[in-house]
Amino acid sequence: MTTDIIIIGGGAAGLLSAVYLKKQNPQLNIRILEALPRVAKKLLLTGNGRCNISNKNINLSRYHGDNVSFAEYALNKYDLEFTKSFFESIGVDFVFEGDKAFPTSLQAGSVVDCLRFAAEELGVLIHTDTKVTNIQILKDKYRIWADKLSFVCDTVIVAAGLFSGGYKCGSDGSMFELLKKSGFKTVKTTPAIVQLKTENEITKQLKGIKVDANVSLKCGEKTLRQEFGEVLFCDYGLSGPPVMQISREVPRSKNSMTLSLDIMPEISFDDLVLKLEKRAKNLSLRPLEEFFTGLLQKRVGQVILKQCGCKLSDTAESLDSGIIKKIAKTVKSFNFKVIDTTGFVNSQVTAGGISTDEFFDKTMESKTYKSFYAVGEILDIDGDCGGFNLQWAWSSAFCACDHILGKK
Ligand SMILES: Cc1cc2nc3c(=O)[nH]c(=O)nc-3n(C[C@H](O)[C@H](O)[C@H](O)COP(=O)(O)OP(=O)(O)OC[C@H]3O[C@@H](n4cnc5c(N)ncnc54)[C@H](O)[C@@H]3O)c2cc1C
Repeated sequence: MTTDIIIIGGGAAGLLSAVYLKKQNPQLNIRILEALPRVAKKLLLTGNGRCNISNKNINLSRYHGDNVSFAEYALNKYDLEFTKSFFESIGVDFVFEGDKAFPTSLQAGSVVDCLRFAAEELGVLIHTDTKVTNIQILKDKYRIWADKLSFVCDTVIVAAGLFSGGYKCGSDGSMFELLKKSGFKTVKTTPAIVQLKTENEITKQLKGIKVDANVSLKCGEKTLRQEFGEVLFCDYGLSGPPVMQISREVPRSKNSMTLSLDIMPEISFDDLVLKLEKRAKNLSLRPLEEFFTGLLQKRVGQVILKQCGCKLSDTAESLDSGIIKKIAKTVKSFNFKVIDTTGFVNSQVTAGGISTDEFFDKTMESKTYKSFYAVGEILDIDGDCGGFNLQWAWSSAFCACDHILGKK
């Protein structure tokens, strides 16, 4: 089968590429080859099913990679406004919650549907259950193999993602391995935006409880990153947006790390000591079991008191100034030794990937192979939680497509 453009992977970047190219040039013959029985399985799961599609604050400081400046051109040129107007043209309007953009339907399924409907209306050929297993370089064309099927084309866009979300999303990294075998330079892949396994004796006791906290990821005394938000205690360790946001550093470090929660960030250590001393006086006859009731999540308070060596059946008058300082210190630095992440299957994005050294930043075209492009997560660019990863998928795809269309 001969075609102009083959897109490998019918996920976020692949679907958008097909629709954008066909809209600009309806004469193009475009096929998407998708390994799974349905397109865009991962996109369907994004934003807890609501699809955090972009962010008002797209800037390089929210992205990572060995050469993060590679992403600058595409993110600046194909920004939120550009993306918003493309999505409006296929039926998806945006709404904002703070800086985060969502479809007004708040349904990831509607984003997938609108991309799918547009692809069908424009005549994009979608081959599902078609997993690419090899790429052959012909004289000035490519032959793409999917087991025994093969397609010849002038242009290839690799939009096959990486490992995040696991097999259910088609994220088996097969194209990554194939490109690696073909000589493309790669950067070590690790899970990012993922829950963390910690020493779990305490997290198990607090399983299911959420607290707002300032979360610091520490290596010895050095704070690597700090985020504020809702932390969830789990039987394996810790989850919640601030934990996921800082998780990227964990598998990339050789040194042991600690997650330190400040569960009363609005008050300084010294003021907390004064507050607890006053409280111990005012509530002198109250059993310690209820000492924190009304101030902290009750169970969290009890666990902290026990950790500081207090007997919950004693009354508040038993707290001397030494123990009050110890309690205040634990509230401000509730520490958990980090063991690992919960792995690729639970991660929202993959750090690392095909090295951006292999591609031109203004076109996403390979420096070695003409008319061979890579877009989205497969490249060594990953973003923070908050719509940054989808925006990278959109921006890099627009960038490659405009080059293919001869616009630059
Ligand atoms: C649970 C979850 C929630 C997320 N939420 C958000 C969010 O709210 N906001 C945000 O910005 N980001 C979010 N992300 C990240 C975002 O989904 C990804 O960054 C984005 O989907 C990457 O787009 P992509 O097109 O590069 O890859 P994908 O969307 O992963 O698409 C790749 C496609 O290629 C196919 N494929 C793979 N190998 C082959 C092959 N050999 N042959 C043919 N097809 C192949 C796969 O089946 C898949 O359909 C989330 C991720 C997960 C897992």
